[in-house]
Amino acid sequence: MALVIGVCKEAIESQSRYANNEISLMKAENGCTLIKSTTRRGVIKHGINGVHDLLQCPICANSMYPPIHQCPNGHTLCTNCKRVHNYCPNCRSELGNIRCLALEKVAEALQLPCKYQNLGCRDLFPYYNKLKHEKRCSFRPYICPYASSECSVTGDIPYLVDHIKEDHSVDVHDGCTFNHRYVKSNPHEVENATWMLTVFNCFGRQFCLHFEAFLLGTSPVYMAFLRFMGGQNDAKRFCYALEVSAFGRKLIWQGVPRSIRDSHKEVRDSHDGLIIPRSLALYFSGGDGQELRLRITGRIWKV
Ligand SMILES: [Zn+2]
Ligand SMILES: [Zn+2]
Ligand SMILES: [Zn+2]
Ligand SMILES: [Zn+2]
Repeated sequence: MALVIGVCKEAIESQSRYANNEISLMKAENGCTLIKSTTRRGVIKHGINGVHDLLQCPICANSMYPPIHQCPNGHTLCTNCKRVHNYCPNCRSELGNIRCLALEKVAEALQLPCKYQNLGCRDLFPYYNKLKHEKRCSFRPYICPYASSECSVTGDIPYLVDHIKEDHSVDVHDGCTFNHRYVKSNPHEVENATWMLTVFNCFGRQFCLHFEAFLLGTSPVYMAFLRFMGGQNDAKRFCYALEVSAFGRKLIWQGVPRSIRDSHKEVRDSHDGLIIPRSLALYFSGGDGQELRLRITGRIWKV
């Protein structure tokens, strides 16, 4: 490993001379690892994997980011492991405070595919930008849109539609118009934040209709809103309207569905939907105000 570090500088220098070349890694006969610059495609591929392996902390197997440390014998380790260990877990020598600048520089020169490459992300990213990109990559799996639960299931949209049907018993309806009735016998208990989810299949895409009760400040309200099962850009290609009416009065909301990339709570807290104060909801329910019987009609269309 010490040899690797020694050669790294040379590799970086030669790399700057051949701006389009990439650094590759080869195993020498004596078992030492050598880095050299090359343009041959096969070698480049092998090289990226090899350098990438070097950037995996040998102790915790996480990717290493600056400051990358090393022991006096050249065994590298990540910042976290350095914090935990006083002695090199590999050769037991005292760690001291030696930084492995060469490896940090090599990492800087690396271009790596996104970890969602197999889901369709085709771009290459500088090593230090990769994590940041992956957090926002449009190919990253979606999180289950079922509200309130701590469901950690992730996947693509068809998978999640099956999942919420099977595992959360959510109704999935076909059609771009709907007429939904929400009935609750004790509408005064808003504190428990009751909520419901229905999914609509429309234009070959899926939309989540959320309905819930919560306290807006100190006022109990009901709220209905739509989330699109897909990315932000696709969501903007749709529009929806919700209305609740009775006795000649009508409350209408028109909006743009939010992507399920925005959490259910985020959408609710931004009040991006039809908000019905409880007193009005009970008025629309008719009767003696002891039961919530709200009929919400809605429509989804393309813009
Ligand atoms: Zn580590
Ligand atoms: Zn060591
Ligand atoms: Zn990506
Ligand atoms: Zn789920």
